[in-house]
Amino acid sequence: MSVAIDTWIIVADDAAVGGLIEFGRLRAAKLVAVVAGRKSVADEVAAAGVDRVIWLGQPPEGTPVEAFAPEVARLVGEGLPRVVLGPDTTAGRALLGAVAVRCGGPVFTRVSALDLEGDRVVLTRSLFSGIAECRESVDGGPAILALPSGGQVSATGTPTPVEQVEARPMTIALVVDRRSDEGVAVDLPSAPVVVGVGRGLKTKADLTLIEELATALGAEVGCSRPLAEGVDWMPKDRYIGISGQHISPRLYMAVGISGQLQHMFGVRDAEVIVAVNSDADAPIFSECDYGLVGDLYRIVPALVAALTAVR
Ligand SMILES: Cc1cc2nc3c(=O)[nH]c(=O)nc-3n(C[C@H](O)[C@H](O)[C@H](O)COP(=O)(O)OP(=O)(O)OC[C@H]3O[C@@H](n4cnc5c(N)ncnc54)[C@H](O)[C@@H]3O)c2cc1C
Repeated sequence: MSVAIDTWIIVADDAAVGGLIEFGRLRAAKLVAVVAGRKSVADEVAAAGVDRVIWLGQPPEGTPVEAFAPEVARLVGEGLPRVVLGPDTTAGRALLGAVAVRCGGPVFTRVSALDLEGDRVVLTRSLFSGIAECRESVDGGPAILALPSGGQVSATGTPTPVEQVEARPMTIALVVDRRSDEGVAVDLPSAPVVVGVGRGLKTKADLTLIEELATALGAEVGCSRPLAEGVDWMPKDRYIGISGQHISPRLYMAVGISGQLQHMFGVRDAEVIVAVNSDADAPIFSECDYGLVGDLYRIVPALVAALTAVR
């Protein structure tokens, strides 16, 4: 029988926490979001079907959201939910770490399922690139989980009112300058459609084929690890897998990728996987929803032409 669990979600300065809300809703009796960021973030989360939103107020100029960590920890310490979820991002981990210190427990990562057995929260976690699972139980304090945030939230019904609490951020660290890193221009974990390319591609110049397919699909381009750490045709932040990016798009199209488990671990939260591979026995064909057996150099241009024609 399914049992409801009081769950809080910690939100940093990014409202793209759709996956967290979905995960929380599976079990939550009551879903409370604590937002340490701009009001616009709190408003978006409030419209996404949570039961309560606590906003820590507008961060003063130059204050990173991490500066609210003690306040977030204080609120969780007072509310004492059974489960605390937060995004597995730099700011998210800083906030969850403070909560964990306050509650005297660890932060769990790579959690695929959560249950209540008696009075214990039981977590299922993947190990060794997904070939094994372990179950761990959390007794007493809340189970604190850092999870892939899972993309944009969608508005559902009437927004819940945003409650502002008086919160004083630490000001020992201030942002004095922001510069964009041109090499990290991609946010694969939030992309709704991703085309992944692997060693089936013969030359770096052929990446244009993949970019054309991505444009036709409105997708971001990712890759298997050898393309980013091997031949170095793609930046490292674009490789997907156990040691790379974990993505959860609505559609993942894997082109010339064999489907080794280290890669597939990074796409296990994709809704639909389509594979293009010339080897009918490639492991990816037992992992995908739709498979196209054939030469990518024939299939990709045909797909681009077909997609362009229907636009
Ligand atoms: C500790 C560790 C961590 C790792 N972490 C990751 C990770 O995070 N992410 C990751 O991706 N890998 C990771 N790897 C590497 C992983 O094991 C695989 O080696 C890698 O994923 C293979 O990449 P690939 O599928 O592109 O290449 P390959 O395995 O070489 O596959 C290429 C595929 O392309 C197909 N192909 C060839 N020509 C064509 C064509 N013309 N048309 C269509 N298909 C074609 C072939 O049939 C083949 O299936 C890790 C390995 C280790 C040991």
